[in-house]
Amino acid sequence: MIVVMDLRATEQDVASVEEVLKKFGYSCHFIRGVERLVIGAVGSGHGVPEGLEMMAGVEKIVPIMQPFKLVSREMKSEDTVIEAGMLRLGGGYFSVIAGPCAVESFTQLSVSASVVRASGAAALRGGAFKPRTSPYAFQGLEKQGLEYLAKAREETGLSIVTEVVNPSDVEQVARIADVIQIGARNMQNFPLLREVGRLRLPVLLKRGLCATVEEWLMAAEYILAEGNYNVILCERGIRTFETYTRNTLDVSAIALAKRLSHLPVIADPSHASGSWRLVRPLALASVAAGADGLLIEVHPNPATALCDGPQSLNPGHFQELMAEIEIMVKIFNKTLWRGEEKNDC
Ligand code: PEP
Ligand code: MN
Repeated sequence: MIVVMDLRATEQDVASVEEVLKKFGYSCHFIRGVERLVIGAVGSGHGVPEGLEMMAGVEKIVPIMQPFKLVSREMKSEDTVIEAGMLRLGGGYFSVIAGPCAVESFTQLSVSASVVRASGAAALRGGAFKPRTSPYAFQGLEKQGLEYLAKAREETGLSIVTEVVNPSDVEQVARIADVIQIGARNMQNFPLLREVGRLRLPVLLKRGLCATVEEWLMAAEYILAEGNYNVILCERGIRTFETYTRNTLDVSAIALAKRLSHLPVIADPSHASGSWRLVRPLALASVAAGADGLLIEVHPNPATALCDGPQSLNPGHFQELMAEIEIMVKIFNKTLWRGEEKNDC
């Protein structure tokens, strides 16, 4: 439930309400809007404590109908804006995260970083730990890959988005990353969700291959419930009966997640399609559906990529696409953010 506090509520009023809620088995999350303080009471508590509505400072009590609570628009009506270094997403800001699927070498990463930066990306993506379907496929450079990512940030200023696969690696990945990615295959890895929930670093949560929108938002709830409210939702395509594409981009999920949640929603047209030729139309469709950003795989030479080459854009195609994204973002009344607003004059 949500306890909306009165404009004149004192700190003592808030503390007394918190005490009562805790006694009833709820944990309290404080959401400070522009106007007033809202207390989100979540957990296994049952019912509304008697007399709560009568307590000093309480304006009203509103039940939350959705199974996801802290993630829902019912809890917080304004968009959450997430900032991490150069990246800014949500509340009218739009950023592009781009780079190779995997960190392969310092040269490959450094070239990728400078080309995506030059075309207007705000963040560099690249996996140092890769969740691969085959145990014989390239698994990533791990610690060395993280060091290369940190060096690429030093060179370009780009924010770093990189994936964590194992709860025991969260600490070392968090030391380098500006945004920590939870991949589609780990969307319901609950110990991992709880672990990144204990951080205060933004988390990019990909939708699972076979997850419903509700399951995806419930996975985000795990992270918020631990106190980390900085979650970016990423629609990356789901498995359908289609075989020409790697996955099927669920455009409706972008619009729906924006309605159901205050969290920023981005799209990944690369994993959704599996084909670089489809990345452009899916990227533009995602902007039209209301996405707050895009995650795009770009490789200096896709033909030699150790991972996901067929879906990676080359630098030239990425540059062309960024020019179109810029136009689309403007049409939909958002600001393309690349560390600062571009001055058109
Ligand atoms: C990736 O971003 O490279 C990746 C592995 O994505 P997903 O988890 O969506 O398959
Ligand atoms: Mn990939």
